[in-house]
Formats: sequence, structure tokens, C-alpha cells
Amino acid sequence: MVEGSELRMKRKRKKRMKIRKRINGIILFAGTIVVSSIFVTAYYRHNIVKREVVQASVVESNVKQETVGNSAQSNLSLTEFINKELTVDKTSYDAGPIQDFLSKNIKIDDGKKIAFLTFDDGPSTTVTPKVLEILKKNDIKATFFIVGKELEKSPRAKQILLDTYKDGNSIGNHTYTHIYNNLYPGGKVDPDKFMAELDENNSAMRKVLGEGFRSRIVRFPGGHMSWKGVDETNKRFDDIGYKYIDWNGLIGDAEGKPKSKEQLLNRYRETFKNQQKLVLLMHDTYGKENTAEVLPEIIADLKNKGYEFRTLK
Ligand SMILES: [Zn+2]
Repeated sequence: MVEGSELRMKRKRKKRMKIRKRINGIILFAGTIVVSSIFVTAYYRHNIVKREVVQASVVESNVKQETVGNSAQSNLSLTEFINKELTVDKTSYDAGPIQDFLSKNIKIDDGKKIAFLTFDDGPSTTVTPKVLEILKKNDIKATFFIVGKELEKSPRAKQILLDTYKDGNSIGNHTYTHIYNNLYPGGKVDPDKFMAELDENNSAMRKVLGEGFRSRIVRFPGGHMSWKGVDETNKRFDDIGYKYIDWNGLIGDAEGKPKSKEQLLNRYRETFKNQQKLVLLMHDTYGKENTAEVLPEIIADLKNKGYEFRTLK
């Protein structure tokens, strides 16, 4: 009896030892995983930071180059520069007569079907590079209306604006904050605030594109057509030489909820009315991946319909 119970005790002890060994093994294994994942994360973080720093220095060196290149032009007043800019790219269209066509239906009798692809609210690090690649592949240029606040989010965003500019696209001003309550309190344009935001955005863009950079084209957030009390701002635009530009076609990528590719194409087909001069509103900010997705199809469709692609100045 006694021997039997001792044997049982021994077996039990052995079993307990086994379980303890197994638990220790599991703890050791889990510990190894935790420690190694901490090391891996730290390594990647370090590399990302390193990459950002490298990109920042690329932007900085490019900015220096551009500034030197533009130093002769930086002596010009804003109005002089803006007028000079108009003559630089002969294929680019003056936004003034195009806006007159949009808002007053004053026709341009060159008989050409022209599509102006316009992208607002960027740059973004997610969508803008895709848009640039598609444009390059198709050998066409577009017009980008930049929001300063987006531009100043990261060195990568600045590099993307520089890429956009160097690819030969046109760069326009879409205000610094894009916040309706700042720009249009009570639905009325505040001329002082609006002009101040254009200046602020211009400075942000000049830091990237060089001190000589100016843009004469402006897109009002929400569209010039949407706001009351524009007279004073219009007058100030005329004094400086700024031109605003709205649109006469869109893909609905900023209307309500995010749209599927099919919904975007449907909205494009709805607003496409064989306009002789088509100013197509699109967005290249965060979350607009589907805009880049449908872009090749829109370009192909317009090419088939005999359109040439131009930028606005
Ligand atoms: Zn916008």
C-alpha cells in the first residue's frame, strides 16, 4: 500500500516537472518573438527616418538649383513675372479666355477640341505620383491646383510638387488652407483673407520651386461660381494679373461619399457634352485612388474623340 502511494507521488512529481518544463519552454519562445519583433520594428523605423532625411536633402538641393536658375526673374514684380510667364510655354492656354468661355459662353474660334485636365487639393504622397506616371505614359500635361497646407505636410510632398513642375505640368494656386469658413465666412468671399492665403500658398510653393516661381492661375476652393461677394476680389485679381478658372466637366470624385470607378466614369459621361474646350475637375488628394484608376480610361476616351491635351496659364 505504502509503496504503491509513494510510486503514485513520484509519478505525479514527474508529471508536474514535465508541465513546468513545457511552460518554461513556451515563455522562452514567446519572449524571443517579442524581443526580435522590437528589434525588427526599430530597424525599419530607423530606415524610414533615414529615407525621409535623404528626400529632404534632395528637395533642398533642388530648391537651391532652381533658385539660382530663376534669380534673374526674381527681380521682376509679380505682375511682370505673371505676364512673362504667359509667353514661356506657347502651347499653354491663357486661363482668362477659357474662363470667359465657361462663365459667359464666349467661344474661342480656333476650331480645336482641347481638354484641360485639372487636379485639385494635392499634392498627396499616395495619388499624385500615380497621376504623374499616367500623364507621362500618355505624353500629356495637366494643371495642378496646390493647397499649401498639403504641400508642407512632408518632404516627400514637396519632392512630388517639384516632380510635377519638372514634368512640365502647370502649377496653380488653390489657397493655403482650403477651409471654407476662413475664406468665405457666411458664404461671402473675404478679400483680405483670400488674398493673404494666396500669398501664403505662393511662399510655400516658392520654397520648393525657387524664389522666382509665381503662378497667375487660381482655383477658388468650391469654385468661383459658388460664392457671393466676389467683386472686390475680382478687382484685386485684375490689378495683380491673377486669373481664376472653374470647370465645365467633372468625375464627381469630391461629391459626397467615395465613389467606385464605375460611378466616377458615369459622372464623367454625364457632364461630358462634347465641349469644344473641356476643363475637367479631378482631385489627387488622399483617398482619391479611384481617380488615378479611371484616368487612363478618360484619357483614352478623349483621345478617341479627337481632343488634344493642354495646360492652363
Ligand atoms: Zn479643392
